[in-house]
Amino acid sequence: MKRVALSVALPLLFALLALAAIIYVTGPGWSVGGGEAGSGPQVPRAPAPPLGSLAIPVEGVTRAALVNGWRVAPSSRHGHHAIDIPAPVGTPVLAAADGRIEKLNDGESSGTAIYERSRDGGTIYVYAHLDHYAPALSEGQAVHAGQVIAAVGVSGDAEAAPPHLHFEVHRMAPGEAWWQGRGVNPYPLLKGAG
Ligand SMILES: [Zn+2]
Repeated sequence: MKRVALSVALPLLFALLALAAIIYVTGPGWSVGGGEAGSGPQVPRAPAPPLGSLAIPVEGVTRAALVNGWRVAPSSRHGHHAIDIPAPVGTPVLAAADGRIEKLNDGESSGTAIYERSRDGGTIYVYAHLDHYAPALSEGQAVHAGQVIAAVGVSGDAEAAPPHLHFEVHRMAPGEAWWQGRGVNPYPLLKGAG
């Protein structure tokens, strides 16, 4: 009898372990646009924008003030594939590069957010936890680097932290939509090589 019970229990145990491993690797948490380093299909993606090529997306913030907030963790809930740029609520949020507003979205975690597609189509810039969009901002609208597109806020799951802009950069494969792409660290792209 004991041997029979064991032959049932062991495969069950292995199945549970396998499931736990899958959850551990993929993680149940959120990431705006699913931009997780090292995961997802291996498809050709646009190269990241050159170092220091982006405009600082918050008005009045200098490159020297930026802090690297990139954390990769086995669970996306504990990772942070973005840079957080602290600023008072209402501070103008600026387009980091020339492009087009692809999606204005309200997410549970990201809050009021903007997804901007680069002019060459290969990059998506994500601006999250916004207070509000710039007046008359609309999907499909062309924007240029430095243009005011929104204001800093605490929408989504940002209430606990001091007000900040959560900013992501996603390298896109051909045909990928605004919520897809692969996250890359925005910090060196904003900060520059020096
Ligand atoms: Zn963040």
